[in-house]
Amino acid sequence: MESLDDLLRQAEATHGHLCAGQVLGVRMALLGLARLGIADPRGADRKRLITYVEIDRCATDAIALATGCRLGKRALKFRDWGKMAATFVDLGSGRALRIAALEDTRELADELYPHLETKGRRQLQAYRELPDAQLFREQWVRVDIDPADLPGRSGDRIVCQRCGEGVNFGRFYLVNGESLCLTCARPELRYWKPAAPGE
Ligand SMILES: [Zn+2]
Ligand SMILES: [Zn+2]
Repeated sequence: MESLDDLLRQAEATHGHLCAGQVLGVRMALLGLARLGIADPRGADRKRLITYVEIDRCATDAIALATGCRLGKRALKFRDWGKMAATFVDLGSGRALRIAALEDTRELADELYPHLETKGRRQLQAYRELPDAQLFREQWVRVDIDPADLPGRSGDRIVCQRCGEGVNFGRFYLVNGESLCLTCARPELRYWKPAAPGE
C-alpha cells in the first residue's frame, strides 16, 4: 500500500493544489482499501475494485487517484447525492464498504488547531492527523452491480432510430418497436435544450 504522503504528493500534482479535500479523499480510499484487503489497487489488484462516489468535489479527485478507479475505465461511478461519502466494492469477494465523512470533524478541527490561520488549514491538519474512527463512519453494504455496468463490458450498441446517434451499453428504450436513446425516449430528463435561434 502506498503511503499517505506519497499519495498526497501525487494528488496535489493531478488536482492542482493540496487541500483538505485531497487529504480526506486519500484517507477515505486508504481506509476502504485496507478494510477490503486490497494492497495494490493501481497494479496487481487493478481489476478488483469499483468505487462509487457521492459528490463531485476535491475529495473525488483524490479518491480516483488513490484507488486508480476512473470514469473512463468504468470503475468510478458517480451518484450525485451531495454527500462526502464513497463505497468501495471488491469484485473479487463481493464485499463492499461505504465510508462517510463525519459531520463534527469541522468543529473538532477548529478546537484542535486554533493556531492555524484558515478553516481550510485547520481541516487539512485534522484530516491528516485524526484517527479513522474520528473522521469516518463505516458500514458494510451490498451493492448489486448490473453486469452492464462492469468495467470491460462493451454491451449492446444500437443506433437511435430517431436522432441517429450511436448508443452504447444498452442505454436505450424500446418504444413502440423503435430503439430510442434516452434523450429521444425521455426528453424531459435531458440536461440540455436546443438553443433558440440567435441565443
Ligand atoms: Zn481541492
Ligand atoms: Zn435519439
